Amino acid sequence: MQLYLYDTWQRETRAFEPLNAEYVGLYCCGPTVYDYAHIGNLRTYMFEDTLRRVLEFNGFSVRHVVNITDVGHLVSDGDDGEDKMERGSRRAGGESAWVLADRYTAAFQVDMRALNNLEPTLWCRATEHIAEQIDFIANIEAKGFTYRTTDGIYFDSSQQDDYGYLARLDLAGLQAGSRVEMGEKHHPTDFALWKFSPLDSQRQMEWNSPWGRGFPGWHIECSAMSSKYLSPWFDIHCGGEDHVAVHHTNEIAQSQACHGTRAANFWMHGYFLQLDNVKMSKSGSDFLRLQTVIDRGYDPMAYRYLNLSAHYRKQLSFSWEALDSAQQALMRLRVSYFGWPQGGEVDQAFSEAFLREVNQDLNTPRALALVWSLVKGSLSNADKKATLRHCDQVLGLALDSWQPVEAIIPAEVMALFETRQAARKAKNWQEADALRKRILELGYVIEDGEHGVTIKAVS
Ligand code: AMP
Ligand code: ZN
Repeated sequence: MQLYLYDTWQRETRAFEPLNAEYVGLYCCGPTVYDYAHIGNLRTYMFEDTLRRVLEFNGFSVRHVVNITDVGHLVSDGDDGEDKMERGSRRAGGESAWVLADRYTAAFQVDMRALNNLEPTLWCRATEHIAEQIDFIANIEAKGFTYRTTDGIYFDSSQQDDYGYLARLDLAGLQAGSRVEMGEKHHPTDFALWKFSPLDSQRQMEWNSPWGRGFPGWHIECSAMSSKYLSPWFDIHCGGEDHVAVHHTNEIAQSQACHGTRAANFWMHGYFLQLDNVKMSKSGSDFLRLQTVIDRGYDPMAYRYLNLSAHYRKQLSFSWEALDSAQQALMRLRVSYFGWPQGGEVDQAFSEAFLREVNQDLNTPRALALVWSLVKGSLSNADKKATLRHCDQVLGLALDSWQPVEAIIPAEVMALFETRQAARKAKNWQEADALRKRILELGYVIEDGEHGVTIKAVS
């Protein structure tokens, strides 16, 4: 069955055909690791995971590359302001930017696993690919696309007729509107390829280059690493919607200059998670981590379910009420699934209907609605189980790894456990602690782990 995906470049949903028979190349812009990821960032990675699962469900093998931005992403999307890593280090009382990068990379990977996102085929770090980035810049320079200012080497965007096409940028309007902030840049859309280290202070992360000591601009890492690990022309490039106007526009400009391609055949973007009608951001105060959600008694799979219930190309407003409903729906699904016997067969008609929905630009809300029609429908329970297990390859709800705690824990302990969950939700920490102790006395231990809260017999 044909898979259709929305391509931001062409602004249309079009048939996906792989560029080569061996694998589908998928590159996803990874996190900037100066802080924890928030659940908005994680929404984007879940969309990308769903895309990968749908590709695999269609029988493609996927080479999935995710980078780690551990240098060069400046506080502003322009080319001034501090490097986010160096600022993060200052904020952490001078802890080294390298140590921060390791810590937040590891924390990000824990969140990815907790959400049951499949492990990428390859992780790659910007700081481990400095030579590749220098080569890329040298290539662009040799082709005449760069100029030098007192603070770095810049890309001259006026040399490309279709610069900004991805975002349908109004170049004349931008040129007219921003004379003042341009500094030494020749055009407002020009951007840094290499920035020089300041003369009066030493950066923690800096390298020698043919142009002088410094560090790479943010966009060049993705061009250098995607062409190295996939190819200069690969299938799909993803990121959040904020990447359209600047980061991906500039990646495309670099690839056009270096290789004469727009890097990827499909450009796909996940829309933002909003909180009180504003984008959740790392610099904002209302920054929710997955761990915060877990600490409030929710299962990470409930957050996954919430995301599946909205289409990735629509902004999603986060609320605790919405998460409550998602958790309840997930629990109903789990309980049904658990109760059904093994040994059934995948229902072909249902499985095709499901595939038709997810192949229509990852329509997970419709796919979930279908799942509920399966639950309520007339198939035998064993066939329902086999069919839902098949669909869970796309949904990623890990239905097979769930079992009701009631199955193994006595009712008295379960009642205490539920009271404790309610106490935690109400932030009544003292009561929650007292209940945990009481439960322990009865021989059961509660673990607030990376996969949510569990209770088990003391071994
Ligand atoms: P960063 O760590 O800031 O480089 O962002 C990592 C990823 O999260 C990028 O693909 C961003 O586009 C995406 N992103 C940032 N904020 C949000 C949000 N509120 N909702 C969804 N995705 C986001
Ligand atoms: Zn990128």
